[in-house]
Amino acid sequence: MNNREVFAPFIAMTPKNLTPVLQHLVDITGHRDHSRLELSVVSALRQLMGIRRIRKLEFLTRDDVTYVRGYLLLENDQVFAMEENSSEDNVELLSEYPELVHCIEQQTDRVHRIEADGSDVLWLPVRLDNKIVSCIEITNDTAYSVQAIDTIHGIIEVYRNYQSLLDYSERDALTGLFNRKTFDEQFSRYARTNVAPGPTGERRNSGDTQWLAVVDIDHFKLVNDRFGHVYGDEVLILVANLLRSSFRSNDRIFRFGGEEFVVLVRSADLEIARSIFERFRQNIEEYEFPQVGRVTVSVGFTGTSQGAPVEILGHADQALYYAKQHGRNQVCYYEELMSSGGLHVADVAHNDVELF
Ligand code: GH3
Ligand code: MG
Ligand code: MG
Repeated sequence: MNNREVFAPFIAMTPKNLTPVLQHLVDITGHRDHSRLELSVVSALRQLMGIRRIRKLEFLTRDDVTYVRGYLLLENDQVFAMEENSSEDNVELLSEYPELVHCIEQQTDRVHRIEADGSDVLWLPVRLDNKIVSCIEITNDTAYSVQAIDTIHGIIEVYRNYQSLLDYSERDALTGLFNRKTFDEQFSRYARTNVAPGPTGERRNSGDTQWLAVVDIDHFKLVNDRFGHVYGDEVLILVANLLRSSFRSNDRIFRFGGEEFVVLVRSADLEIARSIFERFRQNIEEYEFPQVGRVTVSVGFTGTSQGAPVEILGHADQALYYAKQHGRNQVCYYEELMSSGGLHVADVAHNDVELF
């Protein structure tokens, strides 16, 4: 039974003015994808409240200074997706928004300001696990009534709750990285459209090549055997942190299972991609893991422009297998191994990697 069917009896029973609200709630909670969820929230606010302008603000911290990056989602009846914004010219200092700073410091749910021209700007921070991840900014031509603010707040609360549920289902509980299910969904969508998935898995044609790497911790069983599972888990968490700090925010990192991770990196150039993976391998090698000491990883990577997802993943796995067979703690590139004769087509055919 879908959401529309579940809500249908209530829609039939409720007073007229509640019906459109319920219909929008049905729509909002019917999505399994962050960018579509956002679009349905924006269109609910536009249709129900007649709002003129909505922006999503994301927070970035550089050298202890916090900035906001604004993404226009609605202006004068036109709805935009996040990725339609250019990211270069919309970054400002958070301190330019004193009301918002106050709202964040006081941990209140919302704050608004009436501008000199009479328009009313409302800010609603979006928190996940008590951490502010973004803020919705809603501008109206005239001052909001208390009731209008309550309704907008209610819709944003549904959005917050639903976003946190979506986020929870997409991530691995131990490391907080995206899980394998999310990889499967995003990567098969990527292959269908043959353009790279963006930060929320949406279609985006960047023109850059995307590289897929499989990362596997070397001799991880020994870590568990020598130090126990709790230390093993700690190593997994620290490796996940090093993955996050070694790659850029628009690269995608997944915990694939056990002590295996998959990274999707966008880069125009093979040598840059190789040096990015190599730098990560070195970061792990040089890191002093508490109690456990030195840990290394092997990496196999491949280009993603050709082949079905299963083949692409199989290629990276083949290169990883080669790295494991030839001393571990190294980065191997599938296409190079194939052309140099390091890997043979026969090896590939006999490899029984577990795929999807
Ligand atoms: P190789 O260098 O060939 O990759 O050797 P390995 O020991 O890392 O590989 P193997 O696949 O034999 O062992 C993987 C181990 O990872 C076995 C399993 O106990 C451990 N493992 C898998 N998931 C978890 C987890 O969530 N926590 C902990 N602590 N250990 C895990
Ligand atoms: Mg391993
Ligand atoms: Mg493994």
